[in-house]
Amino acid sequence: MDAVSIALHTPLASYANEFCDVLKLFYKVESFFVNSEDAENAETVTHHFAEDRGMMTTSFAFRGMMHEQSAELPQDIEPKRQDVIIKRLRKRLCKITLYELLKNMTGAKPPWGSLTGVRPTRLVYEEMAEGLGIDDAVNAAAAEFDISPDKAEILRQIIRVQSALPAPNAQEADVYISIPFCRTRCAYCSFPGEAVGKGSQIAPYLTALFEEMNLTADLMGEAGLKLRALYIGGGTPTALNEEDFQRLMDETMRLFPTACEYTVEAGRPDTITKRKLQTLKDFQVGRISINPQTMNDETLRLIGRDHSAADTIKAYEMARSMGFMDINMDVIAGLPGETMADFEHTMNEIIRLAPSSLTVHTLAMKRTSRLNVAHTPLPDGQIAAQMVRLGGKTAEQLQMEPYYLYRQKYMAGQQQNVGYARRGCACLYNVDIMEENTSILAIGAGAISKRVFTDREQRIKRAPNVSNVSVYIDRTLEMARRKYSLFMSGGEQYANSSCVGSGNNE
Ligand code: SF4
Repeated sequence: MDAVSIALHTPLASYANEFCDVLKLFYKVESFFVNSEDAENAETVTHHFAEDRGMMTTSFAFRGMMHEQSAELPQDIEPKRQDVIIKRLRKRLCKITLYELLKNMTGAKPPWGSLTGVRPTRLVYEEMAEGLGIDDAVNAAAAEFDISPDKAEILRQIIRVQSALPAPNAQEADVYISIPFCRTRCAYCSFPGEAVGKGSQIAPYLTALFEEMNLTADLMGEAGLKLRALYIGGGTPTALNEEDFQRLMDETMRLFPTACEYTVEAGRPDTITKRKLQTLKDFQVGRISINPQTMNDETLRLIGRDHSAADTIKAYEMARSMGFMDINMDVIAGLPGETMADFEHTMNEIIRLAPSSLTVHTLAMKRTSRLNVAHTPLPDGQIAAQMVRLGGKTAEQLQMEPYYLYRQKYMAGQQQNVGYARRGCACLYNVDIMEENTSILAIGAGAISKRVFTDREQRIKRAPNVSNVSVYIDRTLEMARRKYSLFMSGGEQYANSSCVGSGNNE
């Protein structure tokens, strides 16, 4: 990919970051200036936009080439929805116009077409809301955004699987509990939690967490919300010692006894002990995650996982022998230094272990991860794409279907993260959080509560908890009050925060 410095001149500066995301599909953008006169040595992208008598027209010009597109505004929009729909059309038309220009110029064909957002499935659901069936809706989204046939096929399969899952109703909500501690910090992780070495924070954290859990259970009762799925994540919940882990589960089950699904991230295999698994068994927690990420010890060392592939196998076999049948495993395609042969080895081990679900992530280079700082050599985009394909084939071999998907910025090869599961083993919570169709009461440092309004726009409002553990301990009551306000009065005080949005970022 060519590296470029871009000076964008646009009348729609509020969409500049979105336009930059489209540029990044084709170029490595080293610096990006918006309507700036101080952009020496940067190449200019010139954008025009006009809206007149029900017609939008836009054009982008770059390196002597220009592309123009127009769209008619629909006539029959309800006045209440007018602003949202026109804004969405405007942004889409501009992004697609820029995308077409760059595609024509470079001849490149990004796998997800012009899509740069997190949730491609939402676009298919949008089409379905207009009355299309699954196949037609996928075809319409694929044509509009130039999505490649294999990615469109994943969308089709996911929507089919999701359509067969129990649909949430407006009076249901999920609960998420955050344990923001890990045994050590993985090099690719941008998660803001703490390594358990700083263990002094755990006791006050659990005290604060239990207080927020109690207040949240009260809030659910007051708001008349019925518990749907409960997920304990982090961090690594099993990074707590056996006594603290037992206390966490005691309190969770005392306060939230009626979920239709309980999932606990056991994450790092080196945190799993027989007693912690027994605690989970005693509470009939059916679904756990044991995450190898890779089955290659050299890579595990490089990414700071501080455990071996043998640890993963041992933890998995112990869980199986204790009767855990619903075990998810996470792997990452595109890890530093890994070749196709390394990834094949990981997939062969996964086939041998045969978990009930498999999540194939693609490495995303976040600015706050240590890997980025170290400039560790990564597999190129094409190899990452091959790994992702092999991940899909492995899942198929294990009789799994894809059931949820999301994308992140800076993913190797512009790929995606996909969760695969055997029939009956899809995690409802994962679907709920990705599709944003269920409210979530989220507890603990860094957790973000979400209220989904069941009106036509499916408005979503969020109330984030602070992510710093010490600050969370000091301000627990304030976090609980934020949630109370969100669910009892609509959380209007957060209406201007950046955390509020429709969730569809295309
Ligand atoms: S175990 Fe997970 S949350 Fe913890 S540091 Fe590693 S990647 Fe991050």
